[in-house]
Amino acid sequence: MHSGVLFMEYSGYSKINLGLDVIRKREDGYHDLRMIMQTLQLRDLIDIDIYPSDKMEIEMTCSVDTLPIDESNLCIKAAKLLMEEFHVNKKVVIHLVKNIPIAAGMAGGSADAAAVLEGLNDMLDLGLSKEELMKRGVKLGADIPYCIMKGTALAEGIGDKLTRLHPMVNYPIVIAKPPEGVSTAFVYGNLKIDKLEHPDIDAMITAIDKEDVEGIVATMGNVLESVTVPALPVIDEIKQIMMKYKALGSMMSGSGPTVFGIFPNEHQASKASSALRRSDLCEKVVITYVYNVSEDR
Ligand code: ATP
Repeated sequence: MHSGVLFMEYSGYSKINLGLDVIRKREDGYHDLRMIMQTLQLRDLIDIDIYPSDKMEIEMTCSVDTLPIDESNLCIKAAKLLMEEFHVNKKVVIHLVKNIPIAAGMAGGSADAAAVLEGLNDMLDLGLSKEELMKRGVKLGADIPYCIMKGTALAEGIGDKLTRLHPMVNYPIVIAKPPEGVSTAFVYGNLKIDKLEHPDIDAMITAIDKEDVEGIVATMGNVLESVTVPALPVIDEIKQIMMKYKALGSMMSGSGPTVFGIFPNEHQASKASSALRRSDLCEKVVITYVYNVSEDR
């Protein structure tokens, strides 16, 4: 490009947790987790423009005005991390179109950061491998390495120790986000670790391997529901609508409050979505699918 201007579009993919277990609280205040992560096709769009400049400049725009577009935005943090390390004197402008519900347990901010890291590595020819990007990403957030890896994975430690799993069978997934918010700090702060009903994460891995959807839904469990559901009973109401409209299984993702349902076919998924929209319980209802990447163990 002779003008020296580059434009590219990238995607930041959302995730759900098919299983989420908390093993213990660590001395550093974090929790050791065991989670089954699954990327969804629901994604944010991230356009990156790069202009010649004699200094490092980073700017961004965002389709929603509730998110800050300053240095606290994970897109800016991710760009700064790479540009400072590689002494990049260029002007980078990031345009974020937000589709993933915000502060909702779907790792939207981490997905955006992952997309910016991948995008700038590509556009600036930095030559970093996926593992090298993941090592940098974890400095900004525990979920970012997984958002770079994508697909079906077991996440352990604080969520950054990743093992790729057999790809999850593809079924329609309905995402429903109530308007109420819940902070991740509140949820972990109120978790009664010794009273948890632990989901059988190993049994879920076996079911995923066998592509046994009944086995997958039978082993779904999220210990964080023990805090979020009593605080926000609307989560249970949404789950009940999902199940009434024949979801195979329904659960809260991450620390919530987003609820997802796995449906046997698109017809049922669309009936459930209409019922959820009519219920007035949700701020956002979306039908999406599992997003899997080719095996790269
Ligand atoms: P997780 O599932 O990892 O806990 P989440 O889905 O609950 O994440 P996010 O949508 O990632 O939460 O947002 C958490 C907070 O991060 C928001 O309150 C927001 O202020 C901040 N944030 C910074 N950058 C972004 C971004 N690009 N998109 C969304 N949130 C961002």
